[in-house]
Order: sequence, then C-alpha cells, then structure tokens
Amino acid sequence: MTDLYRLLPEEMEQLVVDMGYPRYRADQILLPLYYKFPKELDDIPQLPKRLREELTATGYTIGSAKEIHRVVSNDGDTTKLLLGMTDNSSVETVLMQYEPAVIGGHPRSTVCVSTQIGCAMGCVFCATGQMGFETNLKAEHIVSQVIHFAEMLQQRDEHITNLVFMGMGEPMANYDEMIRAVKILTHDRGFGLGQRHVTVSTIGIRSGIKRLAEEDLQIGLAISLHAPNDKLRRKLVPTASPNSVEEIIQDGRDYFKKTGRRVTFEYALMAGINDSPEIATELAKLLRGNGSHVNLIPINPTAGDFERPHENNVLEFKQILSDAGVNCTIRVEKGTEISAACGQLRTDLATQS
Ligand code: SF4
Repeated sequence: MTDLYRLLPEEMEQLVVDMGYPRYRADQILLPLYYKFPKELDDIPQLPKRLREELTATGYTIGSAKEIHRVVSNDGDTTKLLLGMTDNSSVETVLMQYEPAVIGGHPRSTVCVSTQIGCAMGCVFCATGQMGFETNLKAEHIVSQVIHFAEMLQQRDEHITNLVFMGMGEPMANYDEMIRAVKILTHDRGFGLGQRHVTVSTIGIRSGIKRLAEEDLQIGLAISLHAPNDKLRRKLVPTASPNSVEEIIQDGRDYFKKTGRRVTFEYALMAGINDSPEIATELAKLLRGNGSHVNLIPINPTAGDFERPHENNVLEFKQILSDAGVNCTIRVEKGTEISAACGQLRTDLATQS
C-alpha cells in the first residue's frame, strides 16, 4: 500500500503518466488532496473512474489520520491531538493560535509537528525524551498531522500559517522522511505553505544541519542549546557529546551564511540549573555579534524534577543578553495546562486530562 500523501507532486505526475494518463490528471489528485481532504479515491469524482480503480488495484490509498483524543486549553488557543496513523501508530500534535495583540502582525495558526514517536536524545527535562525512542514517522504520517489540522481549521474558515518541527522527536534523526514531508508541505502543487513559514528544530545533529543547508530551501532553523558550555550541556542533553557547543554554534553560522535565514537558539530555562546571571553572561559572550536570536523558554512542568525560574530571573537573564547586543525573546506560553507545551509531549493517554 502506498499513501498518496507520501508522493511529491513530480512523483504523482510520473505515476499517472506511467499508468498511461495525461500529466494534468496528477493535479486532479493533488488539488483535492491538499484543499478538500478526501478520505478515499472515490471522494475525487473528477478523476476518471478507471484511474481511481487502477490506483486502488495497484495499492494506492489516501491515508488520513484518525483523531483518538483531543484536549483544548482553557483559552481555546491550543489544541493537542492524539492521532492514530494508518500503521496503527499514534502520535501527539499541537495547534497553537496567536492573536496579533500577543505577537504583533497577523494572527497565526502554528502546527507543532512530530517526526518520531518518542525520542532517543534523552533530554532530561523533556517528557518525550523520558519515554525513549519508539519509531520514526513516515513522511505521509508527518503530512497527515498537518492535513488533519488544516481540515479542522477550514471548517472554521481559518488556515494554517506556520509549521514548526518541534513536536515529538528529533527531526534530523529522521532526516529523509522529515525533508520529504517539508517538500510536500511547501510545494506549490502540494500543501503550498511558504518555506519561510516553516522551522525545523534540532538538538544539534550536525550532519542534519549541514544537509538542510544544502537543500536550497528557505526554511528556518532552530537549535536547542540550553547551556553555554559543554559540561552543563552534557548534563541536560546526555547525547550531546561528541558535539561541542562551539561546533553547534558554528553550524548555525554556516546555515545562516548558506541560506540567509537567521538561526534561533532555543534555551530552556531551569531554576538553579542554567538560569543564573553568570551563565547568562557566558551565553552572551558566546553569541554576541553572531546575528543570532535566542528564544528563552521557562521550563514547563514535565515528568522531571526541574522547576521554572522566577519571572524576575527570566527577565534578568534576558536583560543580560539584550545588553550584550544579543537579540532575545521569551517564548509566549501556550498549552501548559494541557501538557501541550514544549517538552511535554508523549503518547501516554494516562498523562492527559
Ligand atoms: S527536547 Fe527534543 S531532542 Fe530532546 S528529548 Fe525532547 S524531543 Fe528529543
């Protein structure tokens, strides 16, 4: 069985041509797939019945995700879904909606996409890391998460504006499937989201950053740093070695040089661990003059023993970075009470309420 959501538009075209049909038949499949969300081939009546039958007979299907569980935050802005995939795996995905009053500019509907079930990186403050690695998601199952939210939003006359590959898993550890999904989701004959509205986040897999820089895509890169030196970073991200902080920052510089896209360094702030003024000063020295951006994320409650720093400490940390000329923001909090925020995703229904 091959899920049509797996195919790049060029591959869809090749498929119909190989079956003896004109190229334009590919667009008769692609358009409904990404704008009308059919559940089966017979939901695309403009496609000749013979082609629908031949596709089915040769094992092509439309693999929609099934919603197993939905939780919505008190303010209604964050929706966390547990989605069942066609291979019986299940994965958490989150939609975060932002009003212009909070972020400036236009309203945003951002999907936080998962690329793996569980994660092998073992970050000590992350619920996904604590559940361990289960499996890589196929590109079609990454695309399905987005399609599911796109259909939900379409019913409210809204649409997805941004994608962040920051859900469960390390995207660079599932590079081929992740990048296939990115290409489908940003292809103008696929889902058609602008490349500049997509960000891939990594804990610092150097080979993945280098490959991404070579893709000739305009997507954003976020590197989760969490510490300004190797000693502390290895405590928080046990799999970080052998990559040093210096090397990862250099990779960020190289990515910027190659793509022109600014790199964001994500920094989860944990009380008494990595939130002191001395550490802020060390981080500022490391990053100043780089043109990089730091996103401070006061830690969310997870399975670990870490505590969120006091608001004053967060503001002081930010001030030290800003004073050194390092561009810095504090992440707008979303969905903490439904365990949908950063580092809180895991496919254990018992953790949801
Ligand atoms: S923070 Fe990201 S890389 Fe680290 S364990 Fe969690 S999902 Fe994996």
